Formats: sequence, structure tokens, C-alpha cells
Amino acid sequence: MHDPNCIFCKIVTGEIPGKKVYEDELILAFHDINPIAPVHLLVIPKAHLGSLADAQAQDGPALGRIMTMAARLARDHGADDGFRLIVNTGRVGRQEVMHVHAHILGGKEPLGAMLPRPKA
Ligand code: 5GP
Ligand code: ZN
Repeated sequence: MHDPNCIFCKIVTGEIPGKKVYEDELILAFHDINPIAPVHLLVIPKAHLGSLADAQAQDGPALGRIMTMAARLARDHGADDGFRLIVNTGRVGRQEVMHVHAHILGGKEPLGAMLPRPKA
């Protein structure tokens, strides 16, 4: 269920602090420690899952809960006119923390482009 060496598992168990904003039996949401937008939350399954690349059918309920809770979490934190949900995955996705997490990004103004468009 938890990986003793995983930083996000340690936030789940309370071993290290996190600014938690929502918790239920499947998922936990907390503020990103180094925000890149006025609203920057992380939402994770409470059970350790390294990456979306490792997801199995049994992970569906928690991953689904993340999707269905995202709009409410965004709205409750002031992103009431849209937001972006990002799940960086693996090396190419530049995932840094190996416990699946969705970034909820937003604010009052539109965010920057998702990625710079490659020059033709
Ligand atoms: P990734 O690049 O893996 O998608 O994003 C990892 C995110 O986790 C980064 O935005 C980083 O700021 C955040 N982060 C890393 N360590 C901690 C931590 O200990 N606490 C919190 N709240 N966020 C963290
Ligand atoms: Zn973990």
C-alpha cells in the first residue's frame, strides 16, 4: 500500500507534512511545494503507484476519483473558469516524483501554452 521510501506516501501517512486540502478513502490532494500557477494542487492515489505507466484495472477507482474530483478542487481554490490537469509520466514525460500525481493548475487568467510549438 505504501512505499517507505516514497515522499508522497510519507505525506499520505503524515510522516512528512503536506498542506492537505482534501482526503477521502482513495485519494489525497495537497498544495504543490513549488507552485507554478496561482492554483497548483497535486492529487494522488493514497495507495502507492509509481507511474501511470504501471496502472492496472485495480487502480481505476482511485484514478477515476482524481478525474471526477478535479473540477471541484480547482473551483474550491479559485480556479472557477477552467483549469489544466497534467500527469507527467516516465522519462519522456519528465516525471520527477515516482508516485502518480495529477497537477491541477489554474488561476484567474489563462495559463501559458501547454508546450511551445516546434518551429516548422
Ligand atoms: P512531476 O515533475 O513529478 O510531475 O512533479 C512533481 C511535483 O512535486 C513538483 O511540482 C514539485 O514541486 C512537487 N513536490 C516535490 N516534492 C514535494 C513535497 O515534498 N511536497 C509537495 N507538496 N510537493 C512536492
Ligand atoms: Zn508512494
